[in-house]
Amino acid sequence: MTCPLSDNTEKDSGSAPVVTASETTPMMAQFLEIKRAHPDCLLFYRMGDFYEMFLDDAVAAARALDIVLTKRGKHEGEDIPMCGVPVQNHQSYLLRLIRRGFRVAICEQMEDPAEARKRGSGAKGLVKRGVVRIVTPGTLTEDTLLDARTHNYLAALTETARDAGLAWLDLSTGEVMVQPLRPGLTVAAALARLDPRELLIPERLTKKSELYDLLGDWKDRLTIQPDSRFDSDNGRRRLEALYGVGTLDAFGSFTRTEIAAAGALVGYVELTQKGKVPRLEPLRRLVPGAVLEIDAATRRNLELARTLSGERQGSLLATIDRTVTGAGARNLAAWLAAPLTDITAIAARQDMVEFCLCEEALRGEVRALLVRVPDLERALSRIALGRGGPRDLAAIRDGLPRAAEARTRLGHPALAPPPPGITAIVRDLGDPGGPLTVLADRLDRALVPEPPLLARDGGFIVRGYHDALDELITLRDESRRLIAGMQARYVEATGIATLKIKHNNFLGYHIEVSPNHGDKLMSGKAREIFIHRQTMANAVRFSTAELGELERKIAEAADRALATEQSLFNDLIGEVQGRAAAIAEAAHALARLDVVAGLAELAVEARYCRPLVEDSLAFEILGGRHPVVEAALAVAPGSPSFVANDSNLAPEQRLWLLTGPNMAGKSTFLRQNALIAILAQIGSFVPADRVRLGVVDCLFSRVGAADDLARGRSTFMVEMVETAIILNQAGPRSLVILDEIGRGTATFDGLSIAWACVEHLHDAIRCRALFATHYHELTQLAAKLPALTCRTMRIREWHNEVVFLHEVAPGAADRSYGLHVARLAGLPGPVIRRAGEVLKILEAGGPGAGVARLVDDLPLFSAAARRVEAPPPPQVSVVEQALRALNPDDFSPKQALEALYRLRALL
Ligand code: ATP
Repeated sequence: MTCPLSDNTEKDSGSAPVVTASETTPMMAQFLEIKRAHPDCLLFYRMGDFYEMFLDDAVAAARALDIVLTKRGKHEGEDIPMCGVPVQNHQSYLLRLIRRGFRVAICEQMEDPAEARKRGSGAKGLVKRGVVRIVTPGTLTEDTLLDARTHNYLAALTETARDAGLAWLDLSTGEVMVQPLRPGLTVAAALARLDPRELLIPERLTKKSELYDLLGDWKDRLTIQPDSRFDSDNGRRRLEALYGVGTLDAFGSFTRTEIAAAGALVGYVELTQKGKVPRLEPLRRLVPGAVLEIDAATRRNLELARTLSGERQGSLLATIDRTVTGAGARNLAAWLAAPLTDITAIAARQDMVEFCLCEEALRGEVRALLVRVPDLERALSRIALGRGGPRDLAAIRDGLPRAAEARTRLGHPALAPPPPGITAIVRDLGDPGGPLTVLADRLDRALVPEPPLLARDGGFIVRGYHDALDELITLRDESRRLIAGMQARYVEATGIATLKIKHNNFLGYHIEVSPNHGDKLMSGKAREIFIHRQTMANAVRFSTAELGELERKIAEAADRALATEQSLFNDLIGEVQGRAAAIAEAAHALARLDVVAGLAELAVEARYCRPLVEDSLAFEILGGRHPVVEAALAVAPGSPSFVANDSNLAPEQRLWLLTGPNMAGKSTFLRQNALIAILAQIGSFVPADRVRLGVVDCLFSRVGAADDLARGRSTFMVEMVETAIILNQAGPRSLVILDEIGRGTATFDGLSIAWACVEHLHDAIRCRALFATHYHELTQLAAKLPALTCRTMRIREWHNEVVFLHEVAPGAADRSYGLHVARLAGLPGPVIRRAGEVLKILEAGGPGAGVARLVDDLPLFSAAARRVEAPPPPQVSVVEQALRALNPDDFSPKQALEALYRLRALL
């Protein structure tokens, strides 16, 4: 899509920088100069109502957006490729480009083309243009470019010989944080927690393979910056200037590496926002150990925020999310990404949830009013960056009264005494009658109910708010009425009933008659009044001096009205900016309220209990359930209900070895314990009857098999890498969930690895752990390792069928019933029967090592195969025969029902 092109003189609607082989037009020279300053961006070059792209940018964008690539003029002897997108709906194109990894520099016309034309022609008359913003994934603020329920973090990472530092911010909340990191694996864990949309690193890191290797999952989100941008002295100065302080000491003590990362982050925001800095909150430090560490693999395996297939639906987050606002959803996601380790802070959150749980009526009211709260945080971020529109002001207007309402309801004297967390929310929501109420009133008086998106369109200030504006609008509208009157007069004077006064961009206001009346106006007395302007196939157009004068007045009034409205808009924006900190506090408070009210709602709905989180090594869960599986079973018609199970990893039995048949529920049980610990530490209630949990500092899980072919890792390699991380990183306060270690290799290798892992967990790491396995031999370790206890999944065998009870009981399983599951999965009958025979042969070899050796021994299979070369014909039951004889296509519904009864009788 491109704008209509004319010649190389600039018009209001713009034209292409046409270049011939021998010359570079002034416009092309301007384009090339701006492009040189932004080599890594696509340049959206504003020309009237379009953003145009040229040369290589045009080729890349046309391919990415699937839009038409045209050409215009020549540059260095070659055609200039060109494509463009309309300004009106450029955001959808922008989003697609950003998603495909492009960065886009928005280059605007910095003056009115009419002004430029007054200067002269050629280079003199060229409209001044400049880049007003560089759009990158981490610096987006538009609702249309963002997911309302997900944070959009921009992060910066740097490393010195001593340490590493990570800084991050979300432009929509203004929160800026730093975190010291040990070089190495904590980097990956921190990035997995944040899931930044864009990660800045200094160029030198790309040459340091160790850390760079760890960034494997993030390579497509990297923005590589010159090393100088990560200079800690510059960073400190930049931050001090940003916060207007002489020293950062008041905010806490930070390492040089943290300052370097935070400085680079803020510098990048300044760079991309072309000097406009958003409202940023004071720099805060995430203290080492303040959050439960969960590495990337564990997050993935436990499907915390996304399922293994990458969807939100089916994740823990989606299951527990009862928030009703975007800001609340983002806040809950942030809590879930970073469970706490401080038991006082956890209890404080639990108190808030409990308060909302007990005050049922209040919870209902609060949630009903939160539904009507617009996204204050994001509206505020756009306003702070000078990118806000009338609708952002309306969001503030509509959101602040809801905050006041929430405050009134939370402060109702009939309520139980609120816990400190709720009191803090009430405080942050603002004083009744205070400055925020005054601001909301003013916005309410000023704005129309549904304002337009852009201020430049006007029409958002309500009549009666500003006298001078009202006068101009009256004049403007009155003039329009005068036009209608003039048209009536001309109709009467000329006797041409079809005469119309019309408007277009080229002629402005003009008189239009059909061709058969044209001559009448061009002859006699009429000629003195009507000035011929244009003859078209179906119309002849004229102007008059009177019409020209009226048009000037209309334009003037409209321009002045627009300018007045613009200035009122700027005043309102200024007022909001002046109260930005208080509005942000209120917005964050509403988001927190949404989270705790949502968690209370969840606790009631799904029968969760308040866990006791303490400073011990306890891990007692009575009647624990898997939140996601339980919720899935609840909505699946005809499914059995979830079977609750207990666990207790007290120090004397801290390592549970879980055996049991396939499909019996081992993985579910393992995961539910990890998820309960996570939920408990975010301050939520948990799916159990009773829980006592000694706070966990690191959570590791190795569940299921997946390969990582992109990084050249086989299934077994991935398994071993994940296991290595656990065994190297876990400590006595960790919780480790291991499912099926050593399955991806030969039996002896696998069993030996699993054996050694269990011993190491028990003797060296001494942490709380759950270990599920099909190596039943491992249960023998219980005799040797005092803190190891064996548990098994109970089943019942009934008429040759296995019934899964999904109950965890003391003891060990003797078999895996794999063939049973294979049959359920639909493996062909002959294969199942053959597998049964092979199993018998193998089991006849006796238990223990001798058998295992035979399993890896290929000749055994060939011998067995020779002996059973001609398997007996399969036995077919009467029911099966009857079933085979049926042809459902021939049946009426009644016959089908009868057939069903016959089959049932045969059974
Ligand atoms: P495998 O050894 O084959 O990996 P598993 O023992 O780990 O199997 P799971 O994957 O945990 O078994 O569970 C299989 C299915 O059983 C689950 O998808 C779920 O539908 C059901 N299930 C598991 N636990 C329970 C439970 N406690 N109550 C009800 N249903 C359950």
